[in-house]
Amino acid sequence: MEKVVIMGSGCAGLTAALYTARANLNPLVLTGTQPGGLLTTTSTVENFPGFPDGIDGYELMTRMQKQAERFGARVQFSTVEAVDLARAPFVLTVDGERVETQTMIIASGAGHRHLGIESEAKLETKGVTYCATCDGALPLFRNQPLVVVGGGDSAAEEALYLTRFGSAVHLIHRRDTLRASKIMADRVLAHPKLKPIWDAAVIEVLDVSQDKVTGVRVKNLKTQAESVVACAGVFIAIGHVPNTALFKGVITMDEAGYILPQQGAATNIPGVFVAGDCADRVHRQAITAAGMGCAAAIETERYLAGLNV
Ligand code: NAP
Repeated sequence: MEKVVIMGSGCAGLTAALYTARANLNPLVLTGTQPGGLLTTTSTVENFPGFPDGIDGYELMTRMQKQAERFGARVQFSTVEAVDLARAPFVLTVDGERVETQTMIIASGAGHRHLGIESEAKLETKGVTYCATCDGALPLFRNQPLVVVGGGDSAAEEALYLTRFGSAVHLIHRRDTLRASKIMADRVLAHPKLKPIWDAAVIEVLDVSQDKVTGVRVKNLKTQAESVVACAGVFIAIGHVPNTALFKGVITMDEAGYILPQQGAATNIPGVFVAGDCADRVHRQAITAAGMGCAAAIETERYLAGLNV
């Protein structure tokens, strides 16, 4: 039987792993399908304290894992398929295997939000992507016009990154001001290769009949006028959806699926704690997720101490 199982290996999960490992709780970290979490798909992280020159997202997460492992955390590449939290010990189904645990820290993060149009789904991996750092350098996109959808920091970061590869980058946003932080917005607006298209929605990705991306059909939300923007790639960066489907109806969450901690990191089920983006619709930063992971670990340790294990 495990003392602590941590679901997720992003900043929240690996920080919880570091703290519970240093408390001699020998945590088991289940990575999910994306070890290191969403930060591994970021280029340079400039706002994680301690790295004045920035640090590559993948490098940061690799270091966090090593640090947790140094104190005994076991990081396992596997996915939680089902949970039974009705009574302790909790029972998880992990890649078909049964895992029993006294406590659980949910740090399952969030996935990319989709536009939800049919052509987007049909052309995914054929020019539609959700990660510029992963796919931006592909030959398919080199010296071609590209489209980024969104107006937040992710869209700004992806658009700036893609200027290295594309002939031009059209940033399509549904309003006429960016949600991105001022420093990122200023960089976007000053870049000669970046061409914002304001007040616009992508209503179709072209061309499903050719089985590849040739452009997007865009609707101006003020005039309702439609136009086509030619491009070889569509990078969608419109926010995230919490990875909490497994806990629906069991763990208290808001209408968007973000877990609602009851007090500190505790959920409505004693022994189940939560940390990171799956419980944070407001800040969603690497450092806030790490802080939440630390808090969840400390509370888990105290909970177990109360059980005298
Ligand atoms: P976000 O801040 O939630 O922004 C999502 C953007 O997508 C918004 O501009 C939103 O439009 C737009 N959008 C949402 N749904 C849409 C839809 N269905 N169709 C079209 N547009 C849609 O998400 P994010 O950019 O991924 O950032 C998440 C968090 O991570 C933020 O706290 C951000 O600061 C942080 N982050 C920081 C950095 C950095 O510091 N370098 C980098 C990446 C992310 P509206 O503006 O109209 O709502």
